[in-house]
Amino acid sequence: MSSSVEKIKERLSIVDVISSYLKLEKAGGNYKAPCPFHNEKTPSFFISPSRGSYYCFGCGASGDIFTFVEEFEGLDFKGALKLLAGRAGVTLDHYNKEEESERERLYKALEETTKFFVENLENNKEVKAYLKDRGLEEKTIK
Ligand code: ZN
Repeated sequence: MSSSVEKIKERLSIVDVISSYLKLEKAGGNYKAPCPFHNEKTPSFFISPSRGSYYCFGCGASGDIFTFVEEFEGLDFKGALKLLAGRAGVTLDHYNKEEESERERLYKALEETTKFFVENLENNKEVKAYLKDRGLEEKTIK
């Protein structure tokens, strides 16, 4: 049996969740939006539907639907879990140790997310051109 966290992630895509807060633009296989976590006019906030994660090239914010809701709504993990469970129609029996260790696993996964975006950037001409456009030095991008 999968955990509540996994069930929620199966039912809610990151694009569905984030597009309920932000207006997303398509950027190749990804989406972008002005970052909600720092002030900007040109979008540096990228969402990868295939990874179920986001990354901001401006401020380094990264994560998945849980961290996004935590940060955006100012909730703790438990609060974000409740909110997303409600949206996904997943019943949470009770908050337990399992969810707690799930959370740790999620935060470890975030390091992977950041790595993915940074590596992906190396091979993504569109993102690279866009960052250059914004006047970022090649060395800053790497
Ligand atoms: Zn940002």
